[in-house]
Amino acid sequence: MSEILVLVEHAEGEVKKVTLELLTLARTLGSPAAVWAGPGITAEAKARLAEYGADKIYVAGSADLVDHVVAPKAELLAQLVAAASPAAVLVAATAEGKEVAGRLAVKTDSGVITDAVGLGEGFVADQSIFGGGVNVRAKVRRGTPIVAVRPNSTAPVAAAGAGVEEEVTVALSDSARAARVVERVKQEKGARPELTEAAIVVSGGRGVGSAENFSVIEELADSLGAAVGASRAATDAGWYPHQFQVGQTGKTVSPQLYIAAGISGAIQHRAGMQTAKTIVAINKDPEAPIFELADYGVVGDLHQVVPQLTDEIKKRK
Ligand code: FAD
Repeated sequence: MSEILVLVEHAEGEVKKVTLELLTLARTLGSPAAVWAGPGITAEAKARLAEYGADKIYVAGSADLVDHVVAPKAELLAQLVAAASPAAVLVAATAEGKEVAGRLAVKTDSGVITDAVGLGEGFVADQSIFGGGVNVRAKVRRGTPIVAVRPNSTAPVAAAGAGVEEEVTVALSDSARAARVVERVKQEKGARPELTEAAIVVSGGRGVGSAENFSVIEELADSLGAAVGASRAATDAGWYPHQFQVGQTGKTVSPQLYIAAGISGAIQHRAGMQTAKTIVAINKDPEAPIFELADYGVVGDLHQVVPQLTDEIKKRK
């Protein structure tokens, strides 16, 4: 079976969920080979990669791979593409993953598909384009298909792979070392999942009314084990930090469930969330455009609806 390279996303030694999703997807198309870039791979991380189907684990442990932003990762993958001739390369459609994908495509003279929400036989991808406004089927016709797949597009399912480890020494060019990371500021890791990776996202908009009122949104999110998002109106008003903004100029999320409370559904907001599997809207205006998109809608004041919903969810736990 032909090898499919999967670039591992990891933080503090832990493999991120999106990588398990990519391995699950790769298993349906060939033999998954995980590519770990940077030092610090642990026995647990290797076991996790094998548990989700990695037949091979390429370990490139050089610190250069994480100290110089994305360029070295693209060079590492290009080196592996040349050496192993994989059938395809999968990366997560995160900000970093998409940049790696683009650079790799140039280096290997290959086609690239970003924001895939599905991938099937022959590496035909379902791709969300034009800010999520249109879905198309796309296929790479040149070189090695490089596909950036959105988090939450596939449910991760364990199925053991051989997990054979192979050390890789990467020969980096000077240009790959041109930009160096000088400082890393650790984000406070709350109990909530990362916004772009979360299976459930609860977002609040201008209808929330104030920074204090966002506690209603947070309580619902916590009852569901969800991440919190916000519309630009809410982040611009200073009610919630900008890093949680969902939309064209914020983060793109593709969760199983997206709950939009007090959000009108402007095109720029939709661009960041309309590939969510199920959308629930809570809005006091029955004419709000978000209802055109929603699978389930509640017309009402979110300050009444959301706490009731939270109570009900807590009761059922
Ligand atoms: P509004 O449009 O004001 O809607 C508030 C909604 O809350 C209304 O539908 C109202 O009926 C409802 N409401 C009010 N009170 C209650 C209540 N008590 N209970 C229930 N419902 C209530 N926006 C983004 O979100 N993300 C982006 O990334 C983004 N990028 C942009 C980029 C550009 C270049 C531009 C021009 C705009 C961008 N915007 C973005 C802004 C976007 O156009 C909208 O202005 C924004 O999404 C509106 O946010 P909102 O839905 O929270 O507010």
